[in-house]
Amino acid sequence: MKIPNGHQIIEEFEKWSPKYLAMEGDPIGLHVGTLNKKIDRVLVTLDVNEEVVDEAIAKGAGLIIAHHPPIFRPLKNLQTDFPQGRLMGKLIKSDIAVYAAHTNLDVAAGGVNDLLATALGLQNTKVLVPTYEAELVKIAVFVPETHEETVREALAKAGAGAIGDYESCSYTLSGTGRFRPTNDADPYIGEAGKMEVTAESKVEVVVRKNEKDRVIKAMISAHPYEEVAYDVFTLENKEIAMGLGRVGTLETPMTLAEFAEWTKQQLGVPALRVVGAPDTVIKKVAVLGGDGNKYIQQAKRSGADVYVTGDLYFHVAQDAQDIGLNVVDPGHHVEKVIIQGVVDHMSKQQPTWQCEFLPSETDTEPFRFM
Ligand SMILES: [Zn+2]
Repeated sequence: MKIPNGHQIIEEFEKWSPKYLAMEGDPIGLHVGTLNKKIDRVLVTLDVNEEVVDEAIAKGAGLIIAHHPPIFRPLKNLQTDFPQGRLMGKLIKSDIAVYAAHTNLDVAAGGVNDLLATALGLQNTKVLVPTYEAELVKIAVFVPETHEETVREALAKAGAGAIGDYESCSYTLSGTGRFRPTNDADPYIGEAGKMEVTAESKVEVVVRKNEKDRVIKAMISAHPYEEVAYDVFTLENKEIAMGLGRVGTLETPMTLAEFAEWTKQQLGVPALRVVGAPDTVIKKVAVLGGDGNKYIQQAKRSGADVYVTGDLYFHVAQDAQDIGLNVVDPGHHVEKVIIQGVVDHMSKQQPTWQCEFLPSETDTEPFRFM
């Protein structure tokens, strides 16, 4: 067991929720402190407030992973007589780093929106608002048959071969490799000046262009040869679009009134707001965590019978009514599903790490329902 440093933890996290999935201008990433240190405890939270920082101190966490960026608008000062300055001061004094993953974690597979869709029991889910379409490359590497499996595993572990709902996809062909090591070479097989003929496999994988460098690095370090022969091809195929929100169907249709009760129970909220006639039958559901005011048209066009989103404005609710879109607003805080989501995901990535991922027990919901 080895205590990872902050960079290793974030590198692992970003394989799942890469920065390039974030909306433009979203202030994600490291907000406070440094990743240049060993971290054996990470506190995962939706928001960073003073109580959360106290919790991190009490639990000995060196890093907080938060969904909502604590520095959303630029700070004008760091006066510790005021709440935000006091919070920042406490973090720095206690050497606690804060890393934020916001819209990239909304978009990521298994992120906020997928977790909300799962909690609501939605099936056959699709993306509601596409925001990102990955450019793809194909990497073909030539490897001696003895090391085919090792290299294939390294490629998959680095994220290569993820196609839609499938992972670790690859294609392998057998062939013959020929090479003559020169006097300066230190060959794994063969000897200087002598032509070598060896059984090799060609392993092909599809990789997101943004992840190509990381995958090539992992492939080369798993490959036995001194000079690795590989090709990188640009593809015209695009990956299935990723994005915000999900649309899916309920296993059993229910009325809007029943669906509202179901949502309360599944998302753990004591109350919610509903737009629409209570007896409407609901089968198809669109869900978008956080503030989804901007996307009522997309929700309508998706054919959803109801749109579940938070922070609904009065006039947007009226617009929804006008276009015949039912809405259930369980609030913004239902995004708390991501806390356990991050803990579960990160805890199983590196079984040899001595690092605990702890869900924050602080309730950061500012509203009380009465
Ligand atoms: Zn949010």
